[in-house]
Amino acid sequence: MQLIKNYIAGELKEPAKKKYLDNVEPATGQVYSQIPNSTAEDLELAVEAAEKVQPSWAGLSLEKRAEILMKVADAIDDHSNELAKAEAIDNGKPFSLAKAVDIYRASANIRFFAQAITQFSSESHAMGDEAINYTLRDPVGVVGCISPWNLPLYLFTWKIAPALAAGNAVIAKPSEVTPMTAFLLSKICIEAGLPAGVLNILHGDGPSIGDPLTTHPKIKAISFTGGTSTGAHISKVTAGMFKKLSLELGGKNPTLVFADCDFEDTVSNVVRAAFSNQGQICLCGSRIYIERPIYEKFKQAFIQKVQALKVGDPLQEDTQHGALVSKPHMEKVLSYIELAQEEGGNILTGGKQVTLEGRCEKGYFVEPTVIEGLDNDCRTNQEEIFGPVCTIMPFDTDEEAVTLANGTQYGLASSIWTNDLKRAHRVAKQIEAGIVWVNCWLLRDLRTPFGGVKNSGVGREGGLEALRFFTETKNVCIKYS
Ligand code: NAD
Repeated sequence: MQLIKNYIAGELKEPAKKKYLDNVEPATGQVYSQIPNSTAEDLELAVEAAEKVQPSWAGLSLEKRAEILMKVADAIDDHSNELAKAEAIDNGKPFSLAKAVDIYRASANIRFFAQAITQFSSESHAMGDEAINYTLRDPVGVVGCISPWNLPLYLFTWKIAPALAAGNAVIAKPSEVTPMTAFLLSKICIEAGLPAGVLNILHGDGPSIGDPLTTHPKIKAISFTGGTSTGAHISKVTAGMFKKLSLELGGKNPTLVFADCDFEDTVSNVVRAAFSNQGQICLCGSRIYIERPIYEKFKQAFIQKVQALKVGDPLQEDTQHGALVSKPHMEKVLSYIELAQEEGGNILTGGKQVTLEGRCEKGYFVEPTVIEGLDNDCRTNQEEIFGPVCTIMPFDTDEEAVTLANGTQYGLASSIWTNDLKRAHRVAKQIEAGIVWVNCWLLRDLRTPFGGVKNSGVGREGGLEALRFFTETKNVCIKYS
Protein backbone atom coordinates (compact mmCIF):
# COMPACT_ATOMS: atom_id res chain seq x y z
CA MET A 1 0.00 0.00 0.00
CA GLN A 2 1.52 3.28 -1.07
CA LEU A 3 1.55 6.08 1.50
CA ILE A 4 1.13 9.55 0.04
CA LYS A 5 2.78 12.42 1.91
CA ASN A 6 2.35 16.16 2.09
CA TYR A 7 4.99 18.42 0.53
CA ILE A 8 5.92 21.14 3.00
CA ALA A 9 9.03 23.33 3.07
CA GLY A 10 10.59 21.24 0.32
CA GLU A 11 10.17 17.93 2.16
CA LEU A 12 7.74 15.03 2.06
CA LYS A 13 6.01 14.92 5.44
CA GLU A 14 3.43 12.80 7.22
CA PRO A 15 0.40 14.70 8.52
CA ALA A 16 0.74 16.04 12.07
CA LYS A 17 -2.29 14.12 13.34
CA LYS A 18 -1.38 10.94 11.41
CA LYS A 19 -4.88 10.74 9.97
CA TYR A 20 -5.25 9.09 6.56
CA LEU A 21 -7.96 8.52 3.96
CA ASP A 22 -8.21 5.50 1.67
CA ASN A 23 -7.59 6.10 -2.02
CA VAL A 24 -9.47 3.78 -4.38
CA GLU A 25 -8.64 2.77 -7.94
CA PRO A 26 -11.98 3.35 -9.74
CA ALA A 27 -11.39 0.70 -12.39
CA THR A 28 -11.04 -2.05 -9.77
CA GLY A 29 -12.81 -0.68 -6.69
CA GLN A 30 -9.70 -1.56 -4.63
CA VAL A 31 -7.98 0.69 -2.08
CA TYR A 32 -4.44 1.06 -3.37
CA SER A 33 -2.98 3.98 -1.43
CA GLN A 34 -3.60 6.17 1.57
CA ILE A 35 -3.45 9.94 1.68
CA PRO A 36 -3.00 12.34 4.59
CA ASN A 37 -6.17 13.93 5.82
CA SER A 38 -4.27 17.08 6.69
CA THR A 39 -5.38 19.57 9.33
CA ALA A 40 -4.76 23.14 10.47
CA GLU A 41 -1.49 21.99 12.11
CA ASP A 42 -0.05 20.97 8.73
CA LEU A 43 -1.35 24.18 7.21
CA GLU A 44 0.52 26.27 9.81
CA LEU A 45 3.81 24.59 8.85
CA ALA A 46 3.10 25.22 5.17
CA VAL A 47 2.14 28.87 5.71
CA GLU A 48 5.27 29.44 7.78
CA ALA A 49 7.48 27.94 5.04
CA ALA A 50 5.66 29.87 2.32
CA GLU A 51 5.87 33.20 4.15
CA LYS A 52 9.56 32.73 4.81
CA VAL A 53 10.58 32.03 1.22
CA GLN A 54 8.10 34.21 -0.70
CA PRO A 55 10.09 37.49 -0.60
CA SER A 56 13.23 35.83 -1.97
CA TRP A 57 11.21 33.95 -4.64
CA ALA A 58 9.57 37.21 -5.69
CA GLY A 59 12.95 38.90 -5.59
CA LEU A 60 14.43 36.64 -8.26
CA SER A 61 14.64 38.09 -11.74
CA LEU A 62 11.73 37.03 -13.95
CA GLU A 63 14.13 35.10 -16.14
CA LYS A 64 15.52 33.14 -13.19
CA ARG A 65 12.04 32.30 -11.91
CA ALA A 66 11.02 31.23 -15.41
CA GLU A 67 14.16 29.09 -15.74
CA ILE A 68 13.35 27.19 -12.53
CA LEU A 69 9.74 26.64 -13.62
CA MET A 70 10.92 25.41 -17.03
CA LYS A 71 12.97 22.76 -15.22
CA VAL A 72 9.79 21.57 -13.48
CA ALA A 73 8.00 21.44 -16.86
CA ASP A 74 10.87 19.47 -18.41
CA ALA A 75 10.85 17.03 -15.49
CA ILE A 76 7.09 16.49 -15.97
CA ASP A 77 7.78 15.58 -19.60
CA ASP A 78 10.57 13.23 -18.53
CA HIS A 79 8.09 11.43 -16.26
CA SER A 80 5.11 11.64 -18.62
CA ASN A 81 4.49 7.89 -18.92
CA GLU A 82 4.64 7.36 -15.18
CA LEU A 83 2.34 10.35 -14.59
CA ALA A 84 -0.17 9.28 -17.27
CA LYS A 85 -0.33 5.78 -15.80
CA ALA A 86 -0.80 7.23 -12.31
CA GLU A 87 -3.60 9.47 -13.58
CA ALA A 88 -5.34 6.54 -15.30
CA ILE A 89 -5.14 4.41 -12.15
CA ASP A 90 -6.16 7.21 -9.79
CA ASN A 91 -8.96 8.71 -11.86
CA GLY A 92 -10.18 5.90 -14.13
CA LYS A 93 -9.56 7.87 -17.34
CA PRO A 94 -8.04 6.12 -20.34
CA PHE A 95 -4.22 6.13 -20.29
CA SER A 96 -4.18 7.46 -23.87
CA LEU A 97 -6.27 10.50 -22.86
CA ALA A 98 -4.15 11.11 -19.75
CA LYS A 99 -0.98 11.06 -21.84
CA ALA A 100 -2.27 13.19 -24.72
CA VAL A 101 -4.26 15.74 -22.73
CA ASP A 102 -3.71 15.77 -18.97
CA ILE A 103 0.05 15.32 -18.75
CA TYR A 104 0.84 17.05 -22.02
CA ARG A 105 -1.11 20.10 -20.87
CA ALA A 106 0.34 20.01 -17.35
CA SER A 107 3.85 20.76 -18.57
CA ALA A 108 2.43 23.11 -21.23
CA ASN A 109 0.71 25.13 -18.47
CA ILE A 110 3.95 25.59 -16.56
CA ARG A 111 5.94 26.40 -19.68
CA PHE A 112 3.31 28.88 -20.86
CA PHE A 113 3.20 30.88 -17.61
CA ALA A 114 6.98 30.77 -17.18
CA GLN A 115 7.22 32.48 -20.58
CA ALA A 116 4.21 34.74 -20.08
CA ILE A 117 5.62 36.29 -16.90
CA THR A 118 8.66 37.53 -18.77
CA GLN A 119 6.30 39.48 -21.10
CA PHE A 120 4.09 40.83 -18.30
CA SER A 121 4.76 44.56 -18.26
CA SER A 122 3.32 47.44 -16.31
CA GLU A 123 1.73 50.61 -17.62
CA SER A 124 2.83 54.22 -17.27
CA HIS A 125 0.87 57.45 -17.81
CA ALA A 126 2.50 60.84 -18.16
CA MET A 127 0.49 63.78 -16.76
CA GLY A 128 1.82 66.39 -19.16
CA ASP A 129 4.91 68.12 -17.74
CA GLU A 130 3.70 67.73 -14.18
CA ALA A 131 4.05 64.09 -13.20
CA ILE A 132 4.32 60.47 -14.22
CA ASN A 133 2.34 57.48 -13.00
CA TYR A 134 3.45 53.92 -13.24
CA THR A 135 1.85 50.73 -12.05
CA LEU A 136 3.69 48.11 -10.04
CA ARG A 137 2.36 44.59 -10.11
CA ASP A 138 3.38 42.84 -6.92
CA PRO A 139 2.70 39.23 -6.01
CA VAL A 140 -0.21 38.79 -3.62
CA GLY A 141 2.04 36.87 -1.20
CA VAL A 142 0.89 33.47 0.03
CA VAL A 143 -1.99 32.11 -2.06
CA GLY A 144 -4.19 29.01 -2.00
CA CYS A 145 -5.05 26.80 -4.98
CA ILE A 146 -7.77 24.15 -4.73
CA SER A 147 -8.46 21.78 -7.59
CA PRO A 148 -10.94 19.01 -8.48
CA TRP A 149 -10.58 15.35 -9.50
CA ASN A 150 -11.62 15.38 -13.15
CA LEU A 151 -8.39 16.70 -14.71
CA PRO A 152 -6.13 16.30 -11.69
CA LEU A 153 -2.63 17.38 -12.73
CA TYR A 154 -3.86 19.50 -15.61
CA LEU A 155 -6.00 21.78 -13.42
CA PHE A 156 -3.54 21.67 -10.52
CA THR A 157 -0.78 23.09 -12.74
CA TRP A 158 -3.23 25.50 -14.43
CA LYS A 159 -3.45 27.23 -11.03
CA ILE A 160 -0.04 26.85 -9.45
CA ALA A 161 1.85 27.85 -12.63
CA PRO A 162 0.59 31.48 -12.86
CA ALA A 163 0.68 31.82 -9.07
CA LEU A 164 4.33 30.78 -8.89
CA ALA A 165 5.34 32.64 -12.04
CA ALA A 166 3.92 35.85 -10.56
CA GLY A 167 6.16 35.46 -7.50
CA ASN A 168 3.73 34.05 -4.96
CA ALA A 169 4.32 31.15 -2.60
CA VAL A 170 1.56 28.59 -2.93
CA ILE A 171 -0.36 26.26 -0.65
CA ALA A 172 -2.15 23.87 -2.99
CA LYS A 173 -4.77 21.23 -2.25
CA PRO A 174 -5.53 18.62 -4.89
CA SER A 175 -8.73 16.62 -4.71
CA GLU A 176 -8.64 13.90 -2.08
CA VAL A 177 -10.20 11.60 -4.70
CA THR A 178 -7.23 11.91 -7.10
CA PRO A 179 -4.11 12.86 -5.10
CA MET A 180 -1.49 10.73 -6.86
CA THR A 181 -0.12 12.97 -9.60
CA ALA A 182 0.13 15.96 -7.26
CA PHE A 183 2.15 13.72 -4.94
CA LEU A 184 4.40 12.68 -7.82
CA LEU A 185 4.74 16.37 -8.72
CA SER A 186 6.10 16.99 -5.18
CA LYS A 187 8.94 14.59 -5.96
CA ILE A 188 9.45 16.18 -9.38
CA CYS A 189 9.73 19.64 -7.80
CA ILE A 190 12.38 18.38 -5.39
CA GLU A 191 14.25 16.78 -8.31
CA ALA A 192 13.96 19.96 -10.43
CA GLY A 193 15.30 22.19 -7.65
CA LEU A 194 12.23 24.30 -6.88
CA PRO A 195 13.22 26.29 -3.77
CA ALA A 196 11.83 24.81 -0.56
CA GLY A 197 8.52 26.30 0.58
CA VAL A 198 7.67 28.00 -2.71
CA LEU A 199 5.10 25.29 -3.40
CA ASN A 200 3.46 23.34 -0.58
CA ILE A 201 0.99 20.55 -1.29
CA LEU A 202 -1.46 19.49 1.40
CA HIS A 203 -3.71 16.49 0.87
CA GLY A 204 -7.08 15.89 2.46
CA ASP A 205 -10.77 16.61 2.28
CA GLY A 206 -12.81 19.82 2.42
CA PRO A 207 -13.76 19.91 6.11
CA SER A 208 -10.33 18.84 7.38
CA ILE A 209 -8.01 21.00 5.29
CA GLY A 210 -10.13 22.89 2.69
CA ASP A 211 -11.89 25.08 5.25
CA PRO A 212 -8.73 25.95 7.26
CA LEU A 213 -6.98 26.80 3.98
CA THR A 214 -9.66 29.11 2.61
CA THR A 215 -10.16 30.90 5.94
CA HIS A 216 -6.49 31.28 6.92
CA PRO A 217 -5.88 35.01 7.47
CA LYS A 218 -2.42 34.94 5.88
CA ILE A 219 -3.66 33.40 2.62
CA LYS A 220 -4.78 36.41 0.65
CA ALA A 221 -6.08 34.84 -2.56
CA ILE A 222 -7.91 31.60 -3.29
CA SER A 223 -8.11 30.13 -6.75
CA PHE A 224 -10.75 27.40 -6.68
CA THR A 225 -12.06 24.98 -9.29
CA GLY A 226 -14.83 22.59 -8.33
CA GLY A 227 -18.56 22.30 -7.82
CA THR A 228 -20.92 25.29 -7.64
CA SER A 229 -22.08 24.44 -4.10
CA THR A 230 -18.47 24.25 -2.82
CA GLY A 231 -17.78 27.59 -4.52
CA ALA A 232 -20.80 29.10 -2.76
CA HIS A 233 -19.57 27.69 0.56
CA ILE A 234 -16.11 29.22 0.04
CA SER A 235 -17.69 32.60 -0.78
CA LYS A 236 -19.69 32.41 2.46
CA VAL A 237 -16.90 31.35 4.82
CA THR A 238 -14.47 33.93 3.44
CA ALA A 239 -16.99 36.81 3.39
CA GLY A 240 -15.60 39.73 5.33
CA MET A 241 -12.00 38.55 4.98
CA PHE A 242 -11.47 40.54 1.76
CA LYS A 243 -9.61 37.81 -0.06
CA LYS A 244 -9.25 37.69 -3.80
CA LEU A 245 -11.42 34.82 -5.03
CA SER A 246 -11.40 33.12 -8.40
CA LEU A 247 -14.17 30.52 -8.65
CA GLU A 248 -14.35 28.14 -11.63
CA LEU A 249 -17.51 26.13 -11.07
CA GLY A 250 -19.94 23.70 -12.67
CA GLY A 251 -21.51 23.69 -16.11
CA LYS A 252 -24.37 22.22 -18.14
CA ASN A 253 -23.10 23.11 -21.53
CA PRO A 254 -25.19 23.34 -24.71
CA THR A 255 -24.15 22.07 -28.13
CA LEU A 256 -26.04 23.66 -31.04
CA VAL A 257 -26.01 21.68 -34.27
CA PHE A 258 -27.37 23.54 -37.31
CA ALA A 259 -28.55 21.81 -40.50
CA ASP A 260 -25.76 23.41 -42.55
CA CYS A 261 -22.93 21.93 -40.46
CA ASP A 262 -20.23 19.60 -41.84
CA PHE A 263 -22.20 16.52 -40.94
CA GLU A 264 -19.59 13.80 -40.36
CA ASP A 265 -17.10 16.06 -38.63
CA THR A 266 -19.83 17.45 -36.40
CA VAL A 267 -21.13 14.03 -35.36
CA SER A 268 -17.62 12.90 -34.35
CA ASN A 269 -16.89 16.06 -32.41
CA VAL A 270 -20.25 16.17 -30.66
CA VAL A 271 -19.60 12.61 -29.44
CA ARG A 272 -16.17 13.71 -28.22
CA ALA A 273 -17.64 16.81 -26.54
CA ALA A 274 -20.27 14.76 -24.72
CA PHE A 275 -18.22 11.74 -23.63
CA SER A 276 -14.53 12.67 -23.30
CA ASN A 277 -13.24 11.62 -19.89
CA GLN A 278 -16.57 9.77 -19.40
CA GLY A 279 -18.38 13.12 -19.58
CA GLN A 280 -16.43 14.35 -16.55
CA ILE A 281 -15.08 17.58 -17.99
CA CYS A 282 -16.70 20.80 -16.85
CA LEU A 283 -16.79 21.81 -20.55
CA CYS A 284 -18.54 18.67 -21.85
CA GLY A 285 -21.56 19.37 -24.05
CA SER A 286 -24.30 17.43 -22.27
CA ARG A 287 -27.36 19.18 -23.81
CA ILE A 288 -27.39 18.69 -27.55
CA TYR A 289 -29.85 20.72 -29.65
CA ILE A 290 -30.18 19.71 -33.30
CA GLU A 291 -31.97 21.65 -36.04
CA ARG A 292 -35.08 19.70 -37.03
CA PRO A 293 -34.33 19.00 -40.74
CA ILE A 294 -31.29 16.87 -39.79
CA TYR A 295 -32.54 15.66 -36.39
CA GLU A 296 -33.33 12.04 -37.30
CA LYS A 297 -30.28 11.58 -39.51
CA PHE A 298 -27.99 13.13 -36.89
CA LYS A 299 -29.55 11.04 -34.12
CA GLN A 300 -28.88 7.77 -35.96
CA ALA A 301 -25.27 8.66 -36.84
CA PHE A 302 -24.64 9.97 -33.32
CA ILE A 303 -25.95 6.83 -31.62
CA GLN A 304 -23.91 4.63 -33.92
CA LYS A 305 -20.71 6.47 -32.97
CA VAL A 306 -21.57 6.45 -29.26
CA GLN A 307 -22.16 2.70 -29.35
CA ALA A 308 -18.76 2.23 -31.00
CA LEU A 309 -16.90 3.80 -28.04
CA LYS A 310 -14.75 1.12 -26.45
CA VAL A 311 -15.48 0.82 -22.73
CA GLY A 312 -12.59 -0.87 -20.96
CA ASP A 313 -9.68 -0.99 -18.56
CA PRO A 314 -8.17 2.52 -18.48
CA LEU A 315 -4.70 1.00 -18.74
CA GLN A 316 -5.39 -0.66 -22.10
CA GLU A 317 -4.19 1.42 -25.05
CA ASP A 318 -7.40 1.04 -27.08
CA THR A 319 -9.82 2.02 -24.29
CA GLN A 320 -11.85 5.13 -25.14
CA HIS A 321 -14.24 5.13 -22.20
CA GLY A 322 -12.88 4.33 -18.75
CA ALA A 323 -14.30 4.23 -15.23
CA LEU A 324 -16.17 6.95 -13.35
CA VAL A 325 -14.09 8.43 -10.57
CA SER A 326 -15.75 6.84 -7.53
CA LYS A 327 -18.59 4.63 -6.39
CA PRO A 328 -20.66 7.52 -4.96
CA HIS A 329 -20.19 9.41 -8.21
CA MET A 330 -21.26 6.39 -10.28
CA GLU A 331 -24.33 5.98 -8.07
CA LYS A 332 -25.17 9.66 -8.56
CA VAL A 333 -24.90 9.31 -12.34
CA LEU A 334 -27.05 6.14 -12.36
CA SER A 335 -29.66 7.89 -10.20
CA TYR A 336 -29.87 10.70 -12.78
CA ILE A 337 -30.47 8.11 -15.52
CA GLU A 338 -33.35 6.75 -13.43
CA LEU A 339 -34.66 10.26 -12.86
CA ALA A 340 -34.52 10.98 -16.60
CA GLN A 341 -36.83 8.02 -17.22
CA GLU A 342 -39.21 9.19 -14.48
CA GLU A 343 -39.23 12.58 -16.16
CA GLY A 344 -40.37 10.97 -19.42
CA GLY A 345 -37.02 10.50 -21.13
CA ASN A 346 -36.41 7.73 -23.62
CA ILE A 347 -32.99 6.08 -23.41
CA LEU A 348 -31.70 5.71 -26.97
CA THR A 349 -28.50 3.94 -25.99
CA GLY A 350 -26.66 3.08 -22.77
CA GLY A 351 -28.28 3.64 -19.40
CA LYS A 352 -26.64 0.88 -17.40
CA GLN A 353 -23.59 0.04 -15.33
CA VAL A 354 -21.06 -2.07 -17.24
CA THR A 355 -19.44 -5.09 -15.60
CA LEU A 356 -16.11 -5.94 -17.19
CA GLU A 357 -14.28 -9.22 -16.81
CA GLY A 358 -10.91 -9.72 -15.13
CA ARG A 359 -9.19 -7.14 -12.97
CA CYS A 360 -11.91 -4.52 -13.62
CA GLU A 361 -14.92 -6.63 -12.63
CA LYS A 362 -15.64 -4.41 -9.61
CA GLY A 363 -14.96 -1.12 -11.40
CA TYR A 364 -17.25 1.88 -11.73
CA PHE A 365 -18.11 1.75 -15.43
CA VAL A 366 -21.28 3.25 -16.93
CA GLU A 367 -22.34 2.99 -20.56
CA PRO A 368 -22.28 6.18 -22.63
CA THR A 369 -25.93 7.19 -22.46
CA VAL A 370 -28.10 9.25 -24.83
CA ILE A 371 -31.61 10.34 -23.82
CA GLU A 372 -34.36 12.08 -25.83
CA GLY A 373 -37.87 13.27 -25.17
CA LEU A 374 -37.20 15.51 -22.17
CA ASP A 375 -38.33 19.09 -21.56
CA ASN A 376 -35.60 21.67 -21.27
CA ASP A 377 -36.66 22.63 -17.76
CA CYS A 378 -36.65 19.14 -16.21
CA ARG A 379 -33.96 18.34 -13.62
CA THR A 380 -32.04 16.08 -16.01
CA ASN A 381 -31.53 19.07 -18.32
CA GLN A 382 -30.99 21.61 -15.57
CA GLU A 383 -28.61 19.92 -13.12
CA GLU A 384 -24.98 19.02 -13.71
CA ILE A 385 -24.68 15.22 -13.95
CA PHE A 386 -20.96 15.25 -14.74
CA GLY A 387 -20.98 11.79 -16.27
CA PRO A 388 -21.50 9.96 -19.57
CA VAL A 389 -25.07 11.14 -20.02
CA CYS A 390 -26.36 13.57 -22.64
CA THR A 391 -29.78 14.59 -23.86
CA ILE A 392 -30.80 15.43 -27.42
CA MET A 393 -33.65 17.63 -28.60
CA PRO A 394 -34.74 19.21 -31.91
CA PHE A 395 -35.17 22.97 -32.51
CA ASP A 396 -36.72 24.98 -35.34
CA THR A 397 -35.22 28.48 -35.27
CA ASP A 398 -32.00 30.19 -34.20
CA GLU A 399 -33.94 32.12 -31.56
CA GLU A 400 -35.34 28.92 -30.09
CA ALA A 401 -31.86 27.35 -30.05
CA VAL A 402 -30.45 30.32 -28.13
CA THR A 403 -33.34 30.31 -25.65
CA LEU A 404 -32.86 26.59 -24.98
CA ALA A 405 -29.08 27.01 -24.67
CA ASN A 406 -29.44 29.88 -22.19
CA GLY A 407 -32.16 28.19 -20.15
CA THR A 408 -30.13 26.99 -17.16
CA GLN A 409 -28.43 28.54 -14.13
CA TYR A 410 -25.04 27.75 -15.70
CA GLY A 411 -22.94 29.58 -18.29
CA LEU A 412 -19.56 27.95 -18.69
CA ALA A 413 -19.02 26.70 -22.25
CA SER A 414 -20.95 26.04 -25.45
CA SER A 415 -20.35 24.95 -29.02
CA ILE A 416 -22.01 25.92 -32.30
CA TRP A 417 -21.80 23.80 -35.46
CA THR A 418 -22.63 25.69 -38.65
CA ASN A 419 -21.13 26.88 -41.93
CA ASP A 420 -23.08 30.15 -41.86
CA LEU A 421 -20.63 32.83 -40.77
CA LYS A 422 -23.27 35.41 -39.88
CA ARG A 423 -25.20 32.94 -37.79
CA ALA A 424 -22.03 31.77 -36.03
CA HIS A 425 -21.18 35.32 -34.92
CA ARG A 426 -24.77 36.24 -34.04
CA VAL A 427 -25.41 33.13 -31.95
CA ALA A 428 -21.97 33.33 -30.30
CA LYS A 429 -22.86 36.86 -29.16
CA GLN A 430 -26.26 35.78 -27.82
CA ILE A 431 -25.13 32.74 -25.85
CA GLU A 432 -24.66 33.27 -22.12
CA ALA A 433 -21.35 31.51 -21.57
CA GLY A 434 -17.71 32.31 -20.89
CA ILE A 435 -16.56 30.20 -23.84
CA VAL A 436 -18.16 29.66 -27.25
CA TRP A 437 -16.53 27.21 -29.65
CA VAL A 438 -17.54 27.37 -33.31
CA ASN A 439 -16.96 24.16 -35.28
CA CYS A 440 -14.61 22.87 -32.58
CA TRP A 441 -14.57 21.84 -28.94
CA LEU A 442 -11.82 22.03 -26.32
CA LEU A 443 -9.48 23.85 -28.66
CA ARG A 444 -7.50 25.96 -26.20
CA ASP A 445 -5.11 28.84 -26.62
CA LEU A 446 -3.64 29.45 -23.18
CA ARG A 447 -3.53 33.22 -23.79
CA THR A 448 -7.32 33.45 -23.85
CA PRO A 449 -9.56 34.10 -20.84
CA PHE A 450 -11.16 31.01 -19.32
CA GLY A 451 -14.17 30.92 -17.01
CA GLY A 452 -17.92 31.05 -16.72
CA VAL A 453 -20.85 33.40 -16.18
CA LYS A 454 -23.99 32.94 -14.04
CA ASN A 455 -23.51 30.08 -11.55
CA SER A 456 -20.49 28.74 -13.42
CA GLY A 457 -18.16 31.06 -11.60
CA VAL A 458 -16.57 34.40 -10.88
CA GLY A 459 -13.34 35.61 -12.41
CA ARG A 460 -11.23 34.38 -15.26
CA GLU A 461 -8.17 32.19 -15.58
CA GLY A 462 -5.75 31.91 -18.49
CA GLY A 463 -3.14 34.24 -19.94
CA LEU A 464 -2.96 37.72 -18.50
CA GLU A 465 -6.18 37.20 -16.54
CA ALA A 466 -4.45 34.62 -14.34
CA LEU A 467 -1.35 36.78 -13.85
CA ARG A 468 -3.58 39.73 -12.94
CA PHE A 469 -5.44 37.61 -10.39
CA PHE A 470 -2.22 36.54 -8.70
CA THR A 471 -0.84 40.10 -8.46
CA GLU A 472 -1.85 43.34 -6.78
CA THR A 473 -1.44 46.64 -8.56
CA LYS A 474 0.09 49.70 -6.99
CA ASN A 475 -0.01 53.06 -8.68
CA VAL A 476 3.07 55.22 -8.11
CA CYS A 477 2.61 58.92 -8.95
CA ILE A 478 5.76 61.07 -9.16
CA LYS A 479 5.65 64.82 -9.43
CA TYR A 480 8.58 66.19 -11.40
CA SER A 481 8.88 69.60 -9.81
P1 NAD B 1 -15.78 19.67 -5.33
O1 NAD B 1 -16.33 21.03 -5.23
O2 NAD B 1 -16.41 18.58 -4.55
O3 NAD B 1 -14.24 19.64 -4.92
C1 NAD B 1 -13.28 20.46 -5.54
C2 NAD B 1 -12.14 20.69 -4.58
O4 NAD B 1 -12.64 21.45 -3.48
C3 NAD B 1 -11.55 19.41 -3.98
O5 NAD B 1 -10.17 19.56 -3.84
C4 NAD B 1 -12.23 19.33 -2.64
O6 NAD B 1 -11.53 18.61 -1.66
C5 NAD B 1 -12.27 20.80 -2.28
N1 NAD B 1 -13.25 21.13 -1.24
C6 NAD B 1 -14.38 20.46 -0.91
N2 NAD B 1 -14.98 21.08 0.14
C7 NAD B 1 -14.23 22.17 0.43
C8 NAD B 1 -14.32 23.18 1.41
N3 NAD B 1 -15.31 23.21 2.30
N4 NAD B 1 -13.39 24.14 1.43
C9 NAD B 1 -12.37 24.13 0.53
N5 NAD B 1 -12.20 23.17 -0.40
C10 NAD B 1 -13.13 22.20 -0.45
O7 NAD B 1 -15.74 19.32 -6.88
P2 NAD B 1 -15.30 17.96 -7.54
O8 NAD B 1 -16.39 16.97 -7.35
O9 NAD B 1 -13.92 17.63 -7.13
O10 NAD B 1 -15.22 18.39 -9.08
C11 NAD B 1 -16.30 18.38 -9.94
C12 NAD B 1 -16.86 19.77 -10.13
O11 NAD B 1 -15.84 20.63 -10.57
C13 NAD B 1 -17.93 19.81 -11.19
O12 NAD B 1 -18.97 20.63 -10.74
C14 NAD B 1 -17.22 20.46 -12.37
O13 NAD B 1 -18.05 21.14 -13.27
C15 NAD B 1 -16.31 21.40 -11.67
N6 NAD B 1 -15.21 21.80 -12.54
C16 NAD B 1 -15.21 23.08 -13.02
C17 NAD B 1 -14.18 23.49 -13.88
C18 NAD B 1 -14.13 24.90 -14.42
O14 NAD B 1 -13.09 25.28 -14.93
N7 NAD B 1 -15.18 25.67 -14.32
C19 NAD B 1 -13.18 22.59 -14.22
C20 NAD B 1 -13.23 21.30 -13.73
C21 NAD B 1 -14.25 20.91 -12.86
